[in-house]
This record gives sequence, structure tokens and C-alpha cells, in this order.
Amino acid sequence: MNNPQRTTATASDAPEVISPDDVAVTSDGPRLLVGRCRDCGALSFPAAAVCHKCWSHFIDRVEAGPQGTLYSYSTVHIGPKPWRTPYVLGYVDVTPQLRVLTHIQAADAGAIRIGSTVQLTRSDVQLEDGRAISTFVFSVLDINQVQPSEGAVHA
Ligand SMILES: [Zn+2]
Repeated sequence: MNNPQRTTATASDAPEVISPDDVAVTSDGPRLLVGRCRDCGALSFPAAAVCHKCWSHFIDRVEAGPQGTLYSYSTVHIGPKPWRTPYVLGYVDVTPQLRVLTHIQAADAGAIRIGSTVQLTRSDVQLEDGRAISTFVFSVLDINQVQPSEGAVHA
């Protein structure tokens, strides 16, 4: 995080942002800030205080993404307040060692498929009272947007 072009997301340009400390906004777009165990290399998101594999307390924060592969998803029709339903939740494999649970969006809901390439992006998620919260979601890319070398952890 020594690069001056990289800053942690803030709520300054949006009314509300969910989990701004878990995402770094770079000149190339947002990246997940994941935990990487200094002793065994295990990844966690959100970054864990203690490694889930070796119990080490030495966890570094590193960037990951922005692309991943949709492992599985479900459309939520009855969910917790204040989210407006239906919405799609899914597991995204950001790296072979890191699977995250996240909102999934697509311009065409029919385009959401297991195995789709998805990209971390800032978007509005609708609330049941009509407001929206600015947050980070994974959006399904069409085949022309896929960048084959992305999706790795960056130290
Ligand atoms: Zn560990």
C-alpha cells in the first residue's frame, strides 16, 4: 500500500459504501484487500485476525482480483432487511485458494452462469425503501471484456 495512487475507498463520493476498508481503489479499478498468512500463505476475506489454517497472528493485507470465476450462485427472494429482493448472491473464486461470497450483477440476469468470468466493480445495491447503497459487487463480463491474465493476488 505504499503506492500513492492507491487509496482506500471512502464515502466521499457516494452516500454510503459497504466495507470500504476491504477494498482498495486503484487507477485500474477496485481490488479486494485480502489477508495472507505470513507463515503458511493461506488467504482470507475479509482479512482474518488469526489464520484459519495455522493459527498464526501474522496476517498481511494484499490486493486480489479484480476478476474471478463464478463458482455458484442463488437468487434470493426472501432475504434480510433492508435489501430489496430479488437479488443474486454467489461464490466467486478470486484465486484457486480464495472463494468469496458476494452480490452478483449482470446487465442481463439470464447471463449469470456458473463458470462466468466476473469482475469487481462499484455499483448500487437497491434497498426495499427505494434508496441505494454504493458498494462493491462482482459483475458478469461478456466474452469481449475478459482479461486472461487477471485474477491473481498482488503483493
Ligand atoms: Zn497460516
